Amino acid sequence: MIKLAHIAKSFGRHQVLKDINLTVQKGEVVVILGPSGSGKTTLLRCVNALEKPNDGEIKIGDYTFDCKRAGKKDVYRLRQKSAMVFQQYNLFKHKTALENVMEGLVIVKKLPKEEAKARSIAVLEKVGLGGKLDAYPSQLSGGQQQRVGIARALALEPEVILFDEPTSALDPELVGEVLAVIRKIAKEGITMIVVTHEMGFARDVANHVVFMDGGVIVEEGTPSELFNHPQEERTKQFLKRIT
Ligand code: ADP
Repeated sequence: MIKLAHIAKSFGRHQVLKDINLTVQKGEVVVILGPSGSGKTTLLRCVNALEKPNDGEIKIGDYTFDCKRAGKKDVYRLRQKSAMVFQQYNLFKHKTALENVMEGLVIVKKLPKEEAKARSIAVLEKVGLGGKLDAYPSQLSGGQQQRVGIARALALEPEVILFDEPTSALDPELVGEVLAVIRKIAKEGITMIVVTHEMGFARDVANHVVFMDGGVIVEEGTPSELFNHPQEERTKQFLKRIT
């Protein structure tokens, strides 16, 4: 359902992604691992058209985005297909949890306010924040703020949710509650691509694990293949360092 073909991205003379090819099936959870600077975030941002690749093709569902030819309208269309959960939550500070979730539904999806409100309440309940609808971000813990971020992505009902190190800004004691919510929605069959350093989560929840280094996919496979039987030296070294 998602197919990245020959994705390349450079910033100036620095080529950050080199010929990336990746297929993600509907309902799959794909975890992307790799050292800092290997291009993981840039790849996610390309899928969401926050960065425009210099070359290649992105297919999501029945839509094909030709990176070289795409114009503004194509970028807008590609962006509608996915929703991003950011490391730093990126919530509007002057809006409540409910308003944060409603915003995209009203402004981007053009839903009537009442419908947007009902859908937003339902997703906030799903992430365990039914009691915090009127709280502002400053009144919420980091874990709760990130759960609002997840609710906001879920509410858009995108074809895929992209998680960019969703727990790396959190105090250790708050990581578990956010991973639990991601696990729960993964079980519901929502397609996800997750950049994370949480190896336990990757082992348990991923259907497919991708290891990137230096702007290329070095190795990919099931969690068992990648963690228990890595084939490439770079993968072995990386796993040794972090486990
Ligand atoms: P990762 O997520 O694996 O840590 P990133 O995708 O964030 O890697 O970054 C890959 C490389 O691209 C890094 O060398 C980073 O400095 C560079 N980079 C990322 N974004 C930009 C940008 N907007 N402008 C210039 N260089 C960038």
